[in-house]
Amino acid sequence: MKENTKQKVLMVDDEPLNISVVAEILFHKYDLMVATNGEKALQIITSETKPDLILLDILMPGMNGFEVAKRIKENHNTSHIPIIFLTAKHDNESIVKGFELGAADYVSKPFQKEELLVRLKNTLQTFNLRNTLNRALEKSQSYAKTIEKQMALIDKNIIISSTDLNGKITEVSDAFCRVSGFKKEQLIGSNHRIVRHPETKTAKFVKLWETITQGETWCGELKNRGKNGSFYWLDTMIYPIFNELGEKIGYTAISQNITDKKRVEELSVTDQLTRLHNRMYLENSFHREIKRSKRYNYPFSVIMLDIDNFKEVNDTYGHDVGDRVLIAISAILSGHIRETDILGRWGGEEFLIICPHTNVSDASVLAEKLRSSIEEYPFETLGHKTCSFGISEFDLKDDDYKEVSKRADEALYSAKKNGRNRVVVFESMHE
Ligand code: GH3
Ligand code: MG
Ligand code: MG
Repeated sequence: MKENTKQKVLMVDDEPLNISVVAEILFHKYDLMVATNGEKALQIITSETKPDLILLDILMPGMNGFEVAKRIKENHNTSHIPIIFLTAKHDNESIVKGFELGAADYVSKPFQKEELLVRLKNTLQTFNLRNTLNRALEKSQSYAKTIEKQMALIDKNIIISSTDLNGKITEVSDAFCRVSGFKKEQLIGSNHRIVRHPETKTAKFVKLWETITQGETWCGELKNRGKNGSFYWLDTMIYPIFNELGEKIGYTAISQNITDKKRVEELSVTDQLTRLHNRMYLENSFHREIKRSKRYNYPFSVIMLDIDNFKEVNDTYGHDVGDRVLIAISAILSGHIRETDILGRWGGEEFLIICPHTNVSDASVLAEKLRSSIEEYPFETLGHKTCSFGISEFDLKDDDYKEVSKRADEALYSAKKNGRNRVVVFESMHE
């Protein structure tokens, strides 16, 4: 053993002869410190250089060994140091008292050199092991506390939900409860569908389930339903979770609330009066549709419609009535188109519908349906109103949307010229 790793033993004894005998035995293996009375022993023990073990005599002038032991065990800075009583006092009562005071061992004088060495070694080993265990325990307790604190922070701030393999909710964070408006008890045990918003398309969920059941992570934006009929948007990551055996047992979703971002996005592509998509949205949709059409060689058609003699409405009944007609017509149009059709307000009293994967003949069937629905609708205050429709199909030779929208506009102009309240297909105009 190297010099600087020797363990320190404090011997407390008032008898110089005892000290020199013990010193002789121990000095090879241990750093020996000596105190010739109890008071000095306590001073050494409470100083910087604490011993690893104390050999303590019982009968000493002044403070006896029992008292010294009691003080050492009472002080939480020193109570961990093992004490071996080394004494001529070996009646049962003294031995019991020594152990009651927390002694680790008891060696009677006179003793064999080997006996002292073995007892000392055993005691030190036991206590070293105990200290190591204590330190490990303290460390793991402090880790556990840190983890507990972090879990509380996560629970409070991060939107998390877990489900079993069938989508039944098994766990939710406080943050999830806060954003959804549901209580934990209402969520746990329910199917995750409880927060599904009716506007979120089934196709999206089919894709989501397809991804996660294959063991992959799904990322995307989801519109969810709040408890009180409100909604919120989440940017969500859903991944499978496994048990210790590697078996898939469910899914966990970690989400970020993006409702505010979505609101701003929606505002920028929404017409404020009719709540339909605005012209910017339609133009962007044209770009997407043209790309798709060219890639897959699919047709798409454009229906442009304009309210007939709308100026009259404003002039006769006022602008507010005019506005209400625009809103009512928007609702009729929304109610009749397919989920995949893209409807928006193109300008003043003009609307535009992009019909993906649709040729002009199918588009004119839809336009005719819209035309008659509007014609039949009893508008408040003014009674009946009509619209004119122009239709054109995207041509793969077209460079951009301006060509197809111009043809639809020309067809619409022709419908107006020929008496209004009718559908004209550009492609049929020149036959
Ligand atoms: P036509 O059958 O030829 O289309 O005749 P029209 O009167 O509908 O056409 P015109 O272009 O002469 O008039 C369109 C009117 O639509 C004029 C404009 O004040 C009105 N308008 C445009 N946007 C709005 C709106 O947001 N609210 C209201 N109330 N009126 C609007
Ligand atoms: Mg008009
Ligand atoms: Mg007009």
